[in-house]
Amino acid sequence: MDEKILVTRSSMPSYEEYIEAIKPLWDTHWLTNMGVYHHELEEKLKVYLDVPELSLMVNGHMALEMTIQAFGFPEGSEVITTPFTFISTTHAIVRNGLKPVFCDVKEEDGTIDEAKIEDLISERTVAILPVHVYGNICNVEAIEHIANKYNLRVIYDAAHAFSVAYKGKGIGNYGDASIFSFHATKVFNTIEGGAVAFREPRIYDKLYNLKNFGIRGEEIVSEVGANAKMNEFCAIMGLLNLKRTDYAIRERKKRYDFYIQCLKDVEGLRFLRQKGDATNNYAYFPVLIGEGYGKSRDELFDLLRENGIYARKYFYPLTSDQACFKNKFKNVDLKVARKLADEVMVLPLYEELKMESIERICGIINSNR
Ligand SMILES: *Cc1c(COP(=O)(O)O)cnc(C)c1O
Repeated sequence: MDEKILVTRSSMPSYEEYIEAIKPLWDTHWLTNMGVYHHELEEKLKVYLDVPELSLMVNGHMALEMTIQAFGFPEGSEVITTPFTFISTTHAIVRNGLKPVFCDVKEEDGTIDEAKIEDLISERTVAILPVHVYGNICNVEAIEHIANKYNLRVIYDAAHAFSVAYKGKGIGNYGDASIFSFHATKVFNTIEGGAVAFREPRIYDKLYNLKNFGIRGEEIVSEVGANAKMNEFCAIMGLLNLKRTDYAIRERKKRYDFYIQCLKDVEGLRFLRQKGDATNNYAYFPVLIGEGYGKSRDELFDLLRENGIYARKYFYPLTSDQACFKNKFKNVDLKVARKLADEVMVLPLYEELKMESIERICGIINSNR
């Protein structure tokens, strides 16, 4: 039986390093509620992500929910977003009592098609919530232009875009806010975790209250908050992983480039493109299985599975097609998103993935047509 290869493998510091780093917690017994490591990680991430303000969260999903709540949109308002994403994006909108309006995406990179946004704007639209899917950045200038013209907020789901920079600036500088995920499966992890990057300093206090039950003083609760605080064990994991993130991304790049080299001449396969002037974090290796390839995406997916290779169909089905959302919202033509969802497959990619494993995966893709 061939070795089983999963789509990803979490980045970790050495066991000894982590054990040494958490020792002080046994002196202080301060385990959560915005402790010293929480503070230190916020400061270090501001520098690493090159953003003016940042608030840590318990995970990326709550970062998104809290951020949407922080802007205080009226109930039932519409948010323009895309369905070619992880389900979290759509859940966060709906759980805030808002209506997602799905916009189609672009064939070359899977991000929101900015040319189709204006047609979807109504008098109830309050925000645009695009996704930097696979770390491919959206057309942030065009989106900003539309948002200014119609007085809309822009919140980016940047869960995949850790460390990505555009025109020399951290991607978290664009829009009113950007959320990042530090889940174990992401490029940078704090086991579970996330953060919100933003420009206006007052948002920091707002998010601080919301992630701590809306508590404003010892005896005062001023708004309906939740518990979305990152604990000290996770913050320490983050501090250690942050030191090796650049290394991890370099290792991912080597493997990404090797995949391209092995697969570039296979007829019917296509790859997504990062926008010019933007850096890559090599978070994922998505490949599109088009008509010119001898098999369908599902057939190739099954064949890889039979060989112990656990690729994933990110992102199929579209979130708008999931049972909890199907036929509930405005019916928009999502032709391109649907095509991508039918063709896409994410191949295994992580810093320790063996080059021989990539050869084996590409061998199967190359020979079984
Ligand atoms: C991972 C992810 C999230 C949610 O992040 P968690 O940290 O897992 O809660 C949100 N959006 C996208 C696109 C993601 O991939």
